[in-house]
Formats: sequence, C-alpha cells, structure tokens
Amino acid sequence: THFGERIVALEEKQGLVNQVFHDVADRYDLMNDLMSVGVHRLWKDAMVAELAPPKAGTRPFRVLDMAGGTGDIGERIVNASLGHASVVVSDINADMLRVGAERAKGWRYPGQVEFVEANAEELPFEPNSFDAYTIAFGIRNVPRVQKALDEARRVLKRGGRILVLEFSQVDVPGFDAFYKLYSDRVIPPMGRVVTGDAQPYQYFIESIRKFPAPPEFTGMLGKAGFKRVKHTSMTGNIATLFSGWKL
Ligand code: SAM
Repeated sequence: THFGERIVALEEKQGLVNQVFHDVADRYDLMNDLMSVGVHRLWKDAMVAELAPPKAGTRPFRVLDMAGGTGDIGERIVNASLGHASVVVSDINADMLRVGAERAKGWRYPGQVEFVEANAEELPFEPNSFDAYTIAFGIRNVPRVQKALDEARRVLKRGGRILVLEFSQVDVPGFDAFYKLYSDRVIPPMGRVVTGDAQPYQYFIESIRKFPAPPEFTGMLGKAGFKRVKHTSMTGNIATLFSGWKL
C-alpha cells in the first residue's frame, strides 16, 4: 500500500541519517567549520543570544537541546547563563553523543550537562519539564517533522520557548548562484577529503533542498500549537531562526 511504502521510506531515511552521523562523528566539528567557513558559530551564537538564558535566579532553567550532536549549542547556552542553566543534550546517535560527552569534560561548567540518547519523535521526558527546547540543523534530518514538533511542545513548560535553527533555500539574487555552485562543487569533495566519503555531504545538500520553506515550517510550528511564531533569516537566507512559545 501507499501508506506502507511511506513508512518504509521514513525508516530508510532515519537509517541513512544514522549512518551518515555515525561515519562523520569524529570529524563533525571540523567539517562544520570548514564547510561554513566558521559562520555556523555566528548563527549558533545568534540563537543563544535570542534565547537569553537567565544568569541567576532562584528557579532553575532547564533546556533540552535536541539533535544536539557534539554539544556545542549546549555549551553556548550554559556559558551564556554563567552556569545557571542546565542542558540535556539529546540525539539519536550515540557516536555524536560520545564525542560530545568527551568534549564536555573540558567545558567551563561541566556539571551542567547531561547526554541522553533519544529520538526527537518520541521523547523519553516528562510533559512540562523544560523551559526551552532548541534544535540546530537537526529538524530536517528527522523523518516525521510534525511529530517532533508535537513532542517538543509536550515536554515544554507553559511559558516555555522553542527555537529552531535550520538551513533554508538561498533565494537572494546573485548569491543563490554562488551558493548552488558552492553546495554542488565544493562541499561534497571537501567532505571526501576530510571524512573519506562524499556521500554524506550529498545527502546534506539534498536534505536542505527538500526542507519546507520558512512560511511552511512556520505553519507547522503553529499546527503543533506554538504561539507568537516568527522567523528571522540569516546570512543571505542560508539559515533561518524560528521561534515559538507554549502559552
Ligand atoms: N546541533 C548540532 C549542530 O548544530 O552542530 C548537530 C546537528 S547535526 C547536522 C544533526 C543531528 O541530528 C545529528 O547529530 C543526528 O544524529 C541528529 N538526528 C537525526 N535524526 C534524529 C532524530 N530522529 N532524533 C534525534 N536526533 C536526530
């Protein structure tokens, strides 16, 4: 049946994604810096600045960084809060988390993080248990995006916030042609040189092209029940930051 085929396709997608991140885990951070010429750091800083985690207070501030991989968003959040916030870095891929947990030993506030293996589509967390949910360059890898957004809302407290950072289609005249050339001609060979395999980076480019455009994704956040949904585009639309609230 058509329905049955769709389920198989979704499972295949997750299998492929898992293989990709299993293969690149040890070189993942290096590849990010090379492929984005370091700019991913600015986008991540902008996301954490928008979150503005409290630096003090009697109430704890708990953040779930989903698809958190090697933990760099988590580290930024904890540092921005001067160690007040605590972060659960969660990812479906144990290899990415292993690299992250190793790195976290060198964090400024190593006690403020926990690494939990989980699927964004089925979170092993209590309802209403986080003040914020962040996901950077992760949501497009999740086969059932709407399900992940529903889960995000479930685990957030009332008054909690979701921030999603994701690649978008570049449509700025002039820059779009450069970006396409860079994606097709530079990224896969660069991936081959650094990780020994261009295929993961081919997947990476296709997954960006297939991800819903900002107005559509904003609609999905609304459908999941988030309020005051907005988005901001960054660096010629290469990336978009989405925000919503559980009110
Ligand atoms: N957030 C990090 C960053 O910005 O550098 C890592 C992003 S990396 C491009 C995407 C991550 O999504 C990978 O670590 C991958 O394992 C994770 N991922 C893919 N599917 C997932 C799922 N269904 N649930 C949770 N994490 C998933």
